[in-house]
Amino acid sequence: MLPSVDEILGDDSLKSILNEYPRSLVLDSVRQAIDEKRKLIIKLDENNEGIEINNSDIIIDSIKKIKVNYSLSLKNVINGTGVVLHTNLGRSLLSESIKEEVWEIASKYSNLEYDIELGQRGSRYVHLVDIIKKLTKAEDVLIVNNNAAAVLLVLNTLAKNKDVIVSRGELVEVGGSFRIPSIMSLSGAKLVEVGATNKTHILDYEEAINEDTNILMKVHTSNYKILGFTESVGLDELSKISKKYNIPLVEDLGSGVLIDLSKYGLSYEPTVLDSIKKGVDIVTFSGDKMLGGPQAGIIVGKKEYIDKMKKNQLTRALRVDKITIAALEATFRLYLDEKKAVKEIPTLRMLTYSLDELKDRAKKFLDMLNKLKLNIDIKLEEGFSQVGGGSMPIERMNTYLISLRPNNISVSSLEEKLRLSNSHIIGRISEDRYLLDVRTIFDNQFEIIAKEIKNALI
Ligand SMILES: *Cc1c(COP(=O)(O)O)cnc(C)c1O
Repeated sequence: MLPSVDEILGDDSLKSILNEYPRSLVLDSVRQAIDEKRKLIIKLDENNEGIEINNSDIIIDSIKKIKVNYSLSLKNVINGTGVVLHTNLGRSLLSESIKEEVWEIASKYSNLEYDIELGQRGSRYVHLVDIIKKLTKAEDVLIVNNNAAAVLLVLNTLAKNKDVIVSRGELVEVGGSFRIPSIMSLSGAKLVEVGATNKTHILDYEEAINEDTNILMKVHTSNYKILGFTESVGLDELSKISKKYNIPLVEDLGSGVLIDLSKYGLSYEPTVLDSIKKGVDIVTFSGDKMLGGPQAGIIVGKKEYIDKMKKNQLTRALRVDKITIAALEATFRLYLDEKKAVKEIPTLRMLTYSLDELKDRAKKFLDMLNKLKLNIDIKLEEGFSQVGGGSMPIERMNTYLISLRPNNISVSSLEEKLRLSNSHIIGRISEDRYLLDVRTIFDNQFEIIAKEIKNALI
């Protein structure tokens, strides 16, 4: 009773689809649709139930499958979680204002590795040197694929088969796969742990120094805090012994902050400039955490060490693409005017919303939802957002949430329907209500979400 693939393909609606989609994908999708029908027949037959085969059903199924099979796997979602740097949802978001410049570089020839003045081969890293030097006051700059790669390159270049001293309070694990002890052994450097989990003194470092010590390392405990009876050695003191014994001081800063965020109501987070000023020889940080740029690992510091890194073969293996360089240069340029950076870089914008702004936006969203007269309880609630991305773990930013409790379906069913909808809305469930934090939602997404909630309740 089942139609052949050709019979389905002969239908007018599929003929026009064949002009739009690749033939092999259309064929596979039609086969899938017929196959599913075949399985259904077998199942119904086992239960002695009858079935009517209708070609138009198979055509409709085929067209649905063609669209699903052709859609890209990587797609946009709406982040209603209030976690600004959500690593699973793409971490930091690039500024709309740089899209033209990034696309121009990505789609046309450029002077990526070409010196226009001299008419000869150049270096892809030069494009970022001046601007990053200006913003961080460092002597030199090198960019790699991400901060994990930056740490690996620094350790491998400066301390292969040598000792690296790190406090026991700073043996960080980030996002499961990056651990200071593991990256250390991968780099060939030998980890020398000093101090205790809660307390490390300057003497602990000094006592561990010997002729094999090549790096004193400080790791910013970006995703946890040790509280209570604690003591750690600050950069000032570490810098003193680094100079006294002539051993480079390296800092893994994690999330690279360039501006003093305490001006905008957040807790103070050490900036790259602080570290350089305090005498750190090499600082590494991420491009896509609080900086708000593309994924990258940024290494700044003393030229003599960075020159060595440039000669390391690993640098070639960890090198960044032109799209990254274009996005990073344009993002850094926004920082030349701090106010502009805070306004135009979405990550900074979201982190620095005032409570009043959030309330206004939440109210606007609430009104929009109330107008739809849906069968659902809607409330405005106060709550907390998180920085995320392993940054500022105990920072609780006040925010406004839209809290939803449907009357005809369960909260978990609402969550699932919104997640699987075309807009892929990601919220969270807490105490039997569905919560959307307006901090991480764009203004032009409120209407889309309202429409999807309406659909979900039908
Ligand atoms: C996030 C982080 C890393 C890893 O950075 P990626 O850019 O994600 O590779 C390394 N060290 C610290 C301290 C971090 O916070």
